[in-house]
Amino acid sequence: MVSILQAVDLIVAQSKNFGCQAVSIDDSLNRVLAEDVCVDRDYPPFNRSAMDGYAVVSSDFNIGQAVKLQLTEKLLAGGFSKSKVVSGTCIKIMTGAPVPAGADAVVRLEDTVENNNIVEFVVTTVKVKQNIALQAEDAKSSDLIISKNSILDARAIPVLAVLGKAKVKVFNQPKVAVVSTGNEIVSVESAILPHQIRDSNSYSIKNFLKKYAINDVTAIHIADDKQRLITEIEKLLDNDILILSGGVSKGDADYVPEVLMSLGVKQIFHRVQIKPGAPLWFGVMPNGGVVFGLPGNPVSVQVAVKVFIEPFIRACFGMETIKPLLLSIFTDKKKKTKLDEYFPCKIVIKNNVTGIVSNRMNGSGDIAATLGSDGIALHPSSMDMIHENMILEFYPW
Ligand code: AMP
Ligand code: MG
Repeated sequence: MVSILQAVDLIVAQSKNFGCQAVSIDDSLNRVLAEDVCVDRDYPPFNRSAMDGYAVVSSDFNIGQAVKLQLTEKLLAGGFSKSKVVSGTCIKIMTGAPVPAGADAVVRLEDTVENNNIVEFVVTTVKVKQNIALQAEDAKSSDLIISKNSILDARAIPVLAVLGKAKVKVFNQPKVAVVSTGNEIVSVESAILPHQIRDSNSYSIKNFLKKYAINDVTAIHIADDKQRLITEIEKLLDNDILILSGGVSKGDADYVPEVLMSLGVKQIFHRVQIKPGAPLWFGVMPNGGVVFGLPGNPVSVQVAVKVFIEPFIRACFGMETIKPLLLSIFTDKKKKTKLDEYFPCKIVIKNNVTGIVSNRMNGSGDIAATLGSDGIALHPSSMDMIHENMILEFYPW
């Protein structure tokens, strides 16, 4: 039996680079960048008006009285002016348009009255550069803006678009298969008998993988039949990641570890000091791919995916490890085992403090234990009791 830290180290030691490819920006959501992205030109690319107003020469102002200027031109965003703003004149300018040469400030429309091409300014003080977003003040040409190994989320993709990156280099996805095992397990579409259970683990696993855009996953079910397990799992040994649920504990029909080893999968460890999910099995296939044998209970599967499979995927993509949030717990909690225990929690605000409360959980087989939760918190092995307002490590889903 290994500790959680040892298990994660052993798992991450098997991580590998899956190579990379160029994809369209439209297909890049949740993919991981395989290149540094640099700024193609200054942003803003020119001194840009930040207001609808008038481009002026600031030295015409600050003379202790209202100012009237001759309007010479009107400028919309998308246009530009070839003329210069000289003392005594102004150009009407809309937000987003380049501030014309000669002008060093923009006075907003609300502070003006325009009549017959004469603009009267109701303000007397105008600061140099006021209401102008200066060229390169957001980002400078050729600066690094999104680092390799970042995930392309809904904040990063618009930046790619701004930079004109219609195609982007991302890491290839691993080939993944998900196997549910168990004589009692039937698919969601099947008719069900009283002693049967519908497969939910495949949905926990497949949907978690989508967080990293691993969308094309082979998913099959195999009964607790040694020969069938051998035949079916053998066909999956070309995967990069094989995730099984069920059949790794001490029961009479828990054949998964011996079947895997009979197929040449090398066991790295079996059993971890964690609850739920202690019977976790981990090994390496002859092709170098990895096998996670997760215990079948639904909460064990979700915790194992978060604690063990996610670090592996992130390591393959060169991503940083996830650091926990440190949050107060607003409830007491008892623990009977000497294991590290993860339990599903909701984030709440109490007396203006953000913290967590434990979800109602009736053991690791509870189908709804994680429903509505925001993540899992760690009840460390060293503490029998957690008391209200203690600070815990919390890992958002
Ligand atoms: P096992 O690890 O095979 O002993 O299974 C432990 C528990 O998890 C049993 O109560 C199973 O019925 C349940 N279980 C196993 N596989 C699944 C699955 N794919 N979906 C939902 N529950 C499962
Ligand atoms: Mg089983």
